[in-house]
Amino acid sequence: MAGERPTVVVVGAGLAGLACAQRLSAHERPLDLHVLEARDRVGGRCWSSRGWSDGQVAEHGGELIEDSQHHVLGLVAQLGLTLEHRAPTGKRWPRPGRAVIGGADVTDSELAGFPDVTRQLRTDLAATGPVRFDAAGTSLRELDEMSVSDWLDRHVEHGNASPLGLGVATLVSLNLGFDPSELSALSLHHMFVGLSDRGEASLGFSFGHESAPATHEQGTQPGLLDLAAAAVVEVMHVAGGNDLIASRLAELLPGGALRFGEALRSVARRPDGRYLLRTDAGGTHLVAEQLVLALPMPPLRAVDLEGAALSPRRMEAIESLPMGTSNKLILALDRRPSTTPSWPGFAFTDRPPVAVWDSSVGQPGEAGLLTLFSSGDTFGSSGVAHGPAEEEVRRLGTGLLDVLAPGLEGSIGEAWLDLWAEDPWAGGGYAGFAPGQYARFAGFLSQPEGGIHFAGEHTSLSSPGYLDGAVSSGHRTAAEVLTALGLCPS
Ligand SMILES: Cc1cc2nc3c(=O)[nH]c(=O)nc-3n(C[C@H](O)[C@H](O)[C@H](O)COP(=O)(O)OP(=O)(O)OC[C@H]3O[C@@H](n4cnc5c(N)ncnc54)[C@H](O)[C@@H]3O)c2cc1C
Repeated sequence: MAGERPTVVVVGAGLAGLACAQRLSAHERPLDLHVLEARDRVGGRCWSSRGWSDGQVAEHGGELIEDSQHHVLGLVAQLGLTLEHRAPTGKRWPRPGRAVIGGADVTDSELAGFPDVTRQLRTDLAATGPVRFDAAGTSLRELDEMSVSDWLDRHVEHGNASPLGLGVATLVSLNLGFDPSELSALSLHHMFVGLSDRGEASLGFSFGHESAPATHEQGTQPGLLDLAAAAVVEVMHVAGGNDLIASRLAELLPGGALRFGEALRSVARRPDGRYLLRTDAGGTHLVAEQLVLALPMPPLRAVDLEGAALSPRRMEAIESLPMGTSNKLILALDRRPSTTPSWPGFAFTDRPPVAVWDSSVGQPGEAGLLTLFSSGDTFGSSGVAHGPAEEEVRRLGTGLLDVLAPGLEGSIGEAWLDLWAEDPWAGGGYAGFAPGQYARFAGFLSQPEGGIHFAGEHTSLSSPGYLDGAVSSGHRTAAEVLTALGLCPS
């Protein structure tokens, strides 16, 4: 304790932890605030990749900001940052995009059944009621026990063997970073129509929906490729790099509050209700009235929480909530992809699940940057989480481009690989819900226990896995902490 000031510790300086800490530090009542960060930088999975030709910037992690990311967009405006638009908002991207499924281009008519899929997802949700752990009835549990693959087999003609089933499964796999057999069927509802809940403000957030061109045309349902285009192309990026959000937030913290190279190692509740925290930086310890855990589940598993007096359900969630594998191969080009007539705007394929998009669009210069985004072990496992790609991986990327966007192979220069599952402070791309886990954890992960508050994308029910989920969870926990201290959240 520093005098009368209550000690609040935020663990993790990703967007969730920083958004929380900045709100806390802006309160008129000064707090003894500490932000512990294991790495030597802020931002966590919001980390920009610089040093490319023409000063262009790619993203190692969170990149695409949709219209519906209201919390992120609010912060961007508040911090005086500007956005680059990848396509004129609300207008159809001039190139159609490409889906190569089972080795062949999928046609619009093969995907024509997609509106029936979204109708069935809405019908399911009408029967289950709110998707929450404390309201889970039989129909919710039954749906939740199914996997995405099971659901597609049941509700799509020829299921996972059809172009539509495979197209949906591939987008799920790419967007969430898991094999569809590993995910609860409710991941489909979550992704394509949004979940109903009585929790956070930005409900109904779902893949591509607010910007999908068809939603601007009255009475039409967006098609699968419309949604994919909207999620990947009709999006925004912070000029200069998304991680400027993190660095600007960090600059607003009081001097000395942010401590790098301090990994939390244990939390124990003391008899007076405060928490004793130990880090591995020289055996440092802190005593906190209020604690915000804003780190992903895999590194949290490595923290000794035995004495933290957490509930059995919390310990089960920490142990079992899985993290997807989302990887990026960033390729430098000596020209813009759009100067090649065959460039489709964006493209994805199922074997292996890979999507490609232009990360240089909207940025100055003549050169180009492509991002190949994949789930699973497409790019192998080098043991190095982030670094220049080896020649073998670069060749693999070139081969994938040959399938997805032929004509660009000759213009490829340097390559960078991000394998997030190999990053010890992330342990994967972002969290997902395995079969049975919505009924156990939806709406629970955000609930505080004692003086411990939980932030991070995985705690957001409206936009888990997104930058927006991280920011909104940071703002939620700041309000929780201030309320717990008897201070009015401003
Ligand atoms: C490849 C990839 C692509 C993505 N694409 C998009 C996208 O296009 N659009 C989008 O909206 N989102 C995207 N995301 C998701 C988005 O980046 C994340 O949801 C968001 O950045 C998570 O923020 P966070 O604060 O919850 O967690 P993190 O950013 O992981 O922050 C947690 C922090 O805690 C620190 N930490 C961990 N363990 C400890 C410890 N023991 N002690 C102290 N500190 C610790 C970590 O170092 C980290 O800084 C993507 C993510 C990845 C990986």
